[in-house]
Amino acid sequence: MRMRIKFLGAAGEVTGSCYVVKAGGEELMVDCGMFQGEGADEKNRNGLETDVSRLGAVVLTHAHLDHCGRLPLLVKQGFKGSIFTTPASRDLVEIVLLDAAKVAASNEDVEPIYSQAEVEQVLGMIKTVNYGEKVRVGGFDFELLDAGHILGSAMVDMRVKDGENWRRIVFSGDLGNEPSPIVGEIARPENAEIVVMESTYGNREHKERGEEVQLLERVCVEAEEKGGTVLMPAFSLERTQELLHIFDHLKKEGKVKESLPVFLDSPMAMRATAVFLKYPDYFNEQLEKHHSNDDPFDFPGLELVEGMGESKKINGRLGAKVIIAGSGMMSGGRIIFHAARWLPDEKTVLIITGYQAEGTLGREIVDGAKRVVILGREIEIKARVEEITTMSAHADRSQLLEWVEAIKGVKKVVLTHGEEVGRDGLEAGLENKVEVVKPEFNEEVEF
Ligand code: ZN
Repeated sequence: MRMRIKFLGAAGEVTGSCYVVKAGGEELMVDCGMFQGEGADEKNRNGLETDVSRLGAVVLTHAHLDHCGRLPLLVKQGFKGSIFTTPASRDLVEIVLLDAAKVAASNEDVEPIYSQAEVEQVLGMIKTVNYGEKVRVGGFDFELLDAGHILGSAMVDMRVKDGENWRRIVFSGDLGNEPSPIVGEIARPENAEIVVMESTYGNREHKERGEEVQLLERVCVEAEEKGGTVLMPAFSLERTQELLHIFDHLKKEGKVKESLPVFLDSPMAMRATAVFLKYPDYFNEQLEKHHSNDDPFDFPGLELVEGMGESKKINGRLGAKVIIAGSGMMSGGRIIFHAARWLPDEKTVLIITGYQAEGTLGREIVDGAKRVVILGREIEIKARVEEITTMSAHADRSQLLEWVEAIKGVKKVVLTHGEEVGRDGLEAGLENKVEVVKPEFNEEVEF
């Protein structure tokens, strides 16, 4: 039987990345991500449609939940092999999975999908590998290369023993939006027969980075003049560190007063920032230089908020200030309390820094709601809302096409990790050059 790949998620949607490569009676999994959004819970709870006893190992591209979130379920299903990922990803996976287990346990209405004990088991199975280090598991040879997406993120450059031949497949993982203010450049594998690639923004081009810096400066100066509050719902991984780094520059270059308090009210973001500081080798050249003589995420006026008691005290802090708190879509976390307190104040500016999914409070506000219900109370929004659209961590259409077209010898491109519009957008760009495959959920494709 020829080589096959089974697509256990991210087939026609963005979340749930999980692929099993099968050849010569052996199997290897790439990513084991969670489904998120509508209908996700049921799909996650259904378990993975695969025989774990045949699975030699898992290769993990990065620490986002939609790439690692079903690992504890795989362990629950009996998987006992190794999980290979970079050292930075290992540390971030620990934060991300423990948080997911905590969130699951906090909902009293449903049985938690997995427990902290199962997360600990997963962590014990991780073997770390550096970029460019060669690993062999049975008939699979692979190495991880920088994907430029978040700290520690990787693509997988793999050779698979299929009968007498070794066939080369590249799994893109999530590709970054270059140039990243934090991590390094996206690697360009020289050649491959098959490329399995993400297509999140296969139908869109981003505006260039940089606008976010001017916007932050303008809004902070305005807050200082009026004594207003700047509210920033932020994602703990990468986005928060990018914001801290921007503030570091604005303050040290004298564009924003050193005295302006910036509250970082997210224990998870603080833990993630500590991991970033542990791995300066993963930074791009500029940030590494910055880091060698100064902490790029620490600046005058930064106040780290540890406990809930400290968080509540911000309620009484009048005058100009910035509050960075999770969650990024305001679907939970400490930002909720700050939103209830400060959104009715016309001196407040709410800055949305990323994608807001349907059904979240963030989305409701971005869509223009003037009254929202927070913690059971109706809140009138007098704050101004500003959106930053230039901080995406994903490559856009041109970047995706440019990356794949630079790889020599490609016969087939498999489009995953994108909605149909994203896949169709990329497919149109690749037409007549290579064969494009768009697998369905749980489909097994022969190559
Ligand atoms: Zn990701």
